[in-house]
Amino acid sequence: MPDFSHVQPRHLPCPQCLSGLIRDNLVGFQWGYCYGSPGTAYANYQVGDSIQWRADKRGNLPAWSYFRGGGGNIGDPHYENVFVRESEWDVRRCSSCGHSFAGIALRIEKGIIHDVRVYADGLPDAEISIIEDDGSLRPMPEWDDYPMPNIVNGGLRERLIPIRRK
Ligand SMILES: [Zn+2]
Repeated sequence: MPDFSHVQPRHLPCPQCLSGLIRDNLVGFQWGYCYGSPGTAYANYQVGDSIQWRADKRGNLPAWSYFRGGGGNIGDPHYENVFVRESEWDVRRCSSCGHSFAGIALRIEKGIIHDVRVYADGLPDAEISIIEDDGSLRPMPEWDDYPMPNIVNGGLRERLIPIRRK
């Protein structure tokens, strides 16, 4: 069962008819510590939150690793500027009016979820792209379904970094 994180923008309207594109605006993606099954009704992020990574027993943040007991760090915390496509349902069509578009994606800058938007076109084929210093996107198709053979001991309690401020 793949693990997802969910960000919940306040509005994510169809560009054509303005109805909501995903139930409760729950946009599923895979970057950072992911532990939610597909279809979860819970958002672990709002726009403006920092992407969290889970620490192992020693306090390191292992990249591309699952944790014993479930969940995994999908991606590499070394990369703080990434462009991530919605990949839970791969929504490309409005169920109300039938309008099609390229997809939904979020922009993460300095580790913070900067925005979640609907893109009419121009989306990279890869789920993850690195945002270069000049703002251009470097698609990383080799990161799609990246092998994650590591099963890490994260200790008894989840330690997520950075810790979320409420
Ligand atoms: Zn529509």
